Amino acid sequence: MTIREKIKKIFYKNILHKKYYRMGKCKRCGACCSRIYVSHGKHTIDSEEEFESLRYKYPFYSYLNIEGKDDIGIIFSCNNFDTEKHICKIHKVRPGICRRYPDEFVFSMGACLSDGCGYSFRPIEKFIDVLNDVKKKPLKNCTLFVDEN
Ligand code: SF4
Ligand code: SF4
Repeated sequence: MTIREKIKKIFYKNILHKKYYRMGKCKRCGACCSRIYVSHGKHTIDSEEEFESLRYKYPFYSYLNIEGKDDIGIIFSCNNFDTEKHICKIHKVRPGICRRYPDEFVFSMGACLSDGCGYSFRPIEKFIDVLNDVKKKPLKNCTLFVDEN
């Protein structure tokens, strides 16, 4: 690992408290603006009544239209997405959640990237490095079974 990579790793891990590097770039496909699930508290919104009561509280929700519903919850699209030009009509003043998207925080809440998204996430720590650390300092009252094959 080069010095530059080491500094980057320390910065991401210890300053930004990230677990993943975000790779790639936006392809402007619009999937994340036209197929949206909304998490509230610990669940995904699956009732129109709940959504109606929340949309007055959170400005971002006022942009959303109901497109359908599946096993996960209600599927929304954002009415700021220009489907012909494939741009956000309020790009310069878009909400913080859109500016940060895709952020690993979204994944900690159980979300995943849209199919074909130009971004991906790579763990900062390789699994093998984490495993080797655990082997060196095993947790108390814990037995570590490792299949060496
Ligand atoms: S799904 Fe990914 S590539 Fe497509 S618009 Fe959203 S961030 Fe960009
Ligand atoms: S405000 Fe813009 S970036 Fe955010 S979901 Fe709507 S169209 Fe997409």
